[in-house]
Amino acid sequence: MVSDPAVELDGVTKRYETTTAVADLSFAVSEGEFFTLVGPSGCGKTTTLRLLGGFESPTAGSIRLHGVDVADVPPEDRHVGVVFQNYALFPHMTVGENVAYGLKFSSPPGDVTGEERVADLLELVDLGGMEERNPRELSGGQKQRVAMARALAPGPDVLLLDETHDQEEALAISDRVAVMHDGRIDQVGTPRDVYPRPETRFVAEFVGDNNVLSGTVTAMRTDGGGGRVADVDLGPTTVAVRVDGNPAVSTGETLVFCVRPEHLTVDGTTNQLVTTVGSVEFLGGTTRVHLDWNGRELLARTRTALDGTVTVGFDPADAHVVG
Ligand code: ATP
Repeated sequence: MVSDPAVELDGVTKRYETTTAVADLSFAVSEGEFFTLVGPSGCGKTTTLRLLGGFESPTAGSIRLHGVDVADVPPEDRHVGVVFQNYALFPHMTVGENVAYGLKFSSPPGDVTGEERVADLLELVDLGGMEERNPRELSGGQKQRVAMARALAPGPDVLLLDETHDQEEALAISDRVAVMHDGRIDQVGTPRDVYPRPETRFVAEFVGDNNVLSGTVTAMRTDGGGGRVADVDLGPTTVAVRVDGNPAVSTGETLVFCVRPEHLTVDGTTNQLVTTVGSVEFLGGTTRVHLDWNGRELLARTRTALDGTVTVGFDPADAHVVG
């Protein structure tokens, strides 16, 4: 038997007076799945979580948790734990009392007392023995962990975490990500799908660093290995782009494609672009190099130091068409 998804949104829209915070949102999250909403500030992430938690009602559409429509279910009966960005700890309560508040509407799971549950959870979030502390006396990270312990206290079915500002971390820990843009989802997939194969220009530019280029297709041809190649006139130069997965590409059209910085290399012999090195950011193992190419900025990631005039190139197969 296939079980119902833990979370299911179907055409969910939330409008405030003048703003549509989320528009026609549909996605499902399975039991045990780590699903992350990513997108720029104001794209609707928090609103989506507030709708799931029951702190807001959708203007249209439906939300099901384990197959049950929760339109009329109040937050305390949804079995959803929420950790908001601002932690929302009660300042007049101790750390222990804050965590115990998570048990206000239900008893702790398993055969333990409330006090034992609080102690176990504080241990879990590495704050063992801090029950009597005041939230004022904690660091930001510690406050966040208290908020996490409070959300976990009743053993929720779904845990919502409104805090993923580090995109690399989001890609590393998530089973799937949904990329949001202006209240809508542009693309949903595993990080390994979304990063190399963004479906829209927005996703290409938002997820990781990217170089988005566009030009007119001047010729279609087949390369030595039988791959379909478009020659694209970028203005200063013409480059070759593999378009095997895009049967609709044809001569005379505008093609938008992206090339990841790690695919712009100095030793390539195809698709050469003559650039001038601008600023260089040291990232530890690699450097992010800002290149000027005829007044346009390109990004490269290299392990070697670059300076002055540099010719970079990319493999036609490393260009990915986004429009
Ligand atoms: P951030 O990353 O900055 O937290 P977000 O993606 O979580 O942003 P939301 O807080 O969901 O964004 O906001 C989505 C849009 O809805 C924004 O334009 C915001 O101004 C608007 N909005 C959110 N809450 C309300 C409200 N209560 N009344 C009116 N507009 C709102």
